[in-house]
Amino acid sequence: MIELDPIAKEKLERALARKGLRSTRQREQVFAVVYGSDDHPAADVVYQRVKNSVPGISLATVYNCLETLSDCELIRQVNFEREPSRFCLNKEHSLHHAHFHCRDSGKVIDVDLPNDFIENLSQFLPGGYRIDKIDLTLSGTSAENQRKFITNG
Ligand SMILES: [Zn+2]
Repeated sequence: MIELDPIAKEKLERALARKGLRSTRQREQVFAVVYGSDDHPAADVVYQRVKNSVPGISLATVYNCLETLSDCELIRQVNFEREPSRFCLNKEHSLHHAHFHCRDSGKVIDVDLPNDFIENLSQFLPGGYRIDKIDLTLSGTSAENQRKFITNG
């Protein structure tokens, strides 16, 4: 059983209640895994991590829990081409949280965007619209590898 801190637990219960749902042991434990992971695990990795604390939980249930938690905006689904979805905690200022995918290591790194990012981006929108959500994924390689490539070429 993974212990969820009281603040996170309350947040979970409130977000589920807003959708008319209640906190179950499975939902709580799946949330606890994502909450405690900073490597943006995919569903099968969450399943591996939650299995010990919820014996008998199935991969399908883990998928369902992840979907529910995403619907409640407690966690975020991160998608890169041809890769299974990965999950991370929806932070308070998630509006400004983008993802960088390193093609060398497969790592997904959080990128905190500056506060004026949306403001600057908004000037490219047609008049009468405003941005309230950004889903930004960036990809590339490590600078180290880039240098190697240049020297070898
Ligand atoms: Zn993230």
